[in-house]
Amino acid sequence: MRNVHIPTGQLDHFIWRHCASGYTTKKAYIFLDDSNPCLDDSYCKLIWNLYVPPKVSVLIWRLLLNRLPSKENLILRGIDDLSNTNCVFCGAQMEDVNHLFAKCKKVQLLWSKICLWWGFSFVPPNNASLLILQLCSLPDSKKARNCWIPIVLATAWLIWYSRNGVIFKSMTWDENNLADLVQSKTFEWIKGISTSAAFSFGDWCQFPMLCSKET
Ligand SMILES: [Zn+2]
Repeated sequence: MRNVHIPTGQLDHFIWRHCASGYTTKKAYIFLDDSNPCLDDSYCKLIWNLYVPPKVSVLIWRLLLNRLPSKENLILRGIDDLSNTNCVFCGAQMEDVNHLFAKCKKVQLLWSKICLWWGFSFVPPNNASLLILQLCSLPDSKKARNCWIPIVLATAWLIWYSRNGVIFKSMTWDENNLADLVQSKTFEWIKGISTSAAFSFGDWCQFPMLCSKET
């Protein structure tokens, strides 16, 4: 320690050595993710959508890496005193990420409602990561995708939020309420960022594809 010279008379400042242009959450994510080959560029582009709050992006990132504390993952980590390992929504199968986000019949009702809102017909695959990727690529136009991707991510985020609500707050599953929440949250996110979006909440609920053209 005696050999360490701490200069005096200078202001402290943060340094991010991994990129010359400075620190951003996205660059930190890419740096941290370099050691993990599971997430390719197509997933990274989805996760870091302009309109999506970081807390939602982080949750989706953990979902895609299968790092969420699902009941299956808790058991794999040695926490095996769970009273019930089945899905909290349907009770029919063990809770793992693929069941919770893709295979659960109750969750599929929510995805159907969200797809119907935008006029998409979609058959969900049995894999949660594939489901997110396939859903996000449904719209043809870039503007529609930019508004649709937050909707997909918000829905996945609210599925996890609802799962925790059922376990910790005795809430019940309600796909209608969750679909309403997806609409209000994404409206809030897009209007909060886009300076050209002049549409009302009513327009957003009725004509989302048209609204996306304003963003
Ligand atoms: Zn289920």
